[in-house]
Amino acid sequence: MNEQCAKCGGACCKVLIIPARDHAEREWIEGRAIMMTDSQAVIESRCRHLSEDGRCLVQDNKPLYCKLAEVNDAICKLCMVAKGNALTKSPDSAKTS
Ligand code: SF4
Ligand code: SF4
Repeated sequence: MNEQCAKCGGACCKVLIIPARDHAEREWIEGRAIMMTDSQAVIESRCRHLSEDGRCLVQDNKPLYCKLAEVNDAICKLCMVAKGNALTKSPDSAKTS
């Protein structure tokens, strides 16, 4: 695990990012999301493969989505902001689309 992820404690493994583009999607998500951007919502959801000390227990077989994740990419920043892990200054800078 790299240093930044170790400090972060796995913010991206504790949330789900789902679309919130139109009125119907946003209405359904209202009250469930811990953060919303113009097009996405972040919901608390801890991955069952995340260990108590913040390690991925399926490192060699983790999903493609996780394999593609990169420190400081837009999803990383969005997760960090949503979890309150200071990395970026505001949710606006974490928008992914
Ligand atoms: S949110 Fe970013 S820094 Fe935190 S664990 Fe995930 S990739 Fe690493
Ligand atoms: S599979 Fe591993 S990297 Fe992916 S969300 Fe779960 S704990 Fe994190």
